[in-house]
Amino acid sequence: MLLFGAVNFAPCTVVVRRALPHLRCPGRCYNSRGANYMLGLLPDGDELSESPIAAGLLDWHARQGRHDLPWQSDRTPYRVWVSEIMLQQTQVATVIPYYTRFMQRFPGVRALADAPIDDVLHLWTGLGYYARARNMHRSAIRVRDEFGGRFPESFEEIASLPGIGRSTAGAILALSLGLRFPILDGNVKRVLARYFGVAGNASERAVSERLWHLADTCTPLGQVAVYTQAIMDLGATVCTRRKPLCAYCPLSEGCVAKRTGRQHELPSPRPARVRPSRQVFMLVAMRADGSVLLERRPESGVWGGLWCLPEFDDPTAARAYIGHSLQRPQSEPQPLGRVEHAFTHFDLVITPLLARCAGSAGVMDAARSVWYNTREPARIGLPAPIKALLEDFASPALFDGRVAG
Ligand code: SF4
Repeated sequence: MLLFGAVNFAPCTVVVRRALPHLRCPGRCYNSRGANYMLGLLPDGDELSESPIAAGLLDWHARQGRHDLPWQSDRTPYRVWVSEIMLQQTQVATVIPYYTRFMQRFPGVRALADAPIDDVLHLWTGLGYYARARNMHRSAIRVRDEFGGRFPESFEEIASLPGIGRSTAGAILALSLGLRFPILDGNVKRVLARYFGVAGNASERAVSERLWHLADTCTPLGQVAVYTQAIMDLGATVCTRRKPLCAYCPLSEGCVAKRTGRQHELPSPRPARVRPSRQVFMLVAMRADGSVLLERRPESGVWGGLWCLPEFDDPTAARAYIGHSLQRPQSEPQPLGRVEHAFTHFDLVITPLLARCAGSAGVMDAARSVWYNTREPARIGLPAPIKALLEDFASPALFDGRVAG
């Protein structure tokens, strides 16, 4: 039985409170069907029937899905939140060790909020997209200070935290509490675009709206946590970007892309852009004890908040810095082998310049610069290529050879 008309994407709390002021929707779900299910106004048997794909996906997931990932046990909103943020743009296999270490160090949101940002960035080193870590730390502080240290359980409050968009907020509530919220991450977009034959790129507003509508339509009224995990797993393991395994897909019968042979055209890629390359020079200022000067980068921009070698646009600027900032520098900085690092939108080419010195000359801002002992590394956040470069210097052969050179 349906009481309300379509109110997709308006919080059902508002609808329910207006229509039935004596009732309180426990789910704060995002549409009327969900509200009715939560209120017990639909029979249990209907919980999957309105979704064209839920029954097949749940059956597949019971047999083939992933059930033993570290974030699938003890599914609290906090634990699911950490996993969802780490999994953005990152493969499951890469995330698992990072997630395990993160949970050991920060088992709850208060531990994360109370930690120095350097501890958080240190555990994030190598995972990339460091804005995610800074946003998580900021969010944890807000949860501690504004929500009494308890991770919020309403969509609006979760979505108000830094770095949490609509899909992530929905995933947190769906996976940890089983509340009916659609999600639309990259894997789900691909499955839906192919299954329903939605052309165009999701960065276009009309395409995005269409996909959100389909995501909502497909999300069942019950078993939401399993469904959400199942559609994400299907996108990650079967309906993959390059070689979808349609022969093993539980949705193959109704899939438009498979029927029309357009698996590789859908979803439509973003228009190609020329990938720029940026050249920089980084100073490896090294003291006789092997320590290397690092500076904290500004909060915004590439590698924001991480510790890095001083960066310059050209060797002349590096030499000027050596002249006014370092004591007894070697006459000329020596260029080392180039390091290349790919970001999402550009390539960074780094030429390290090695300069031995006695220390820093002027008064340096202690909060923004540090002499980093490569043989006893401090727990600070380092960009992955800089960490690898510094590890090279910790190797006795390289260290001695380079310093002696
Ligand atoms: S049939 Fe193929 S293209 Fe369609 S959803 Fe399944 S794996 Fe993806």
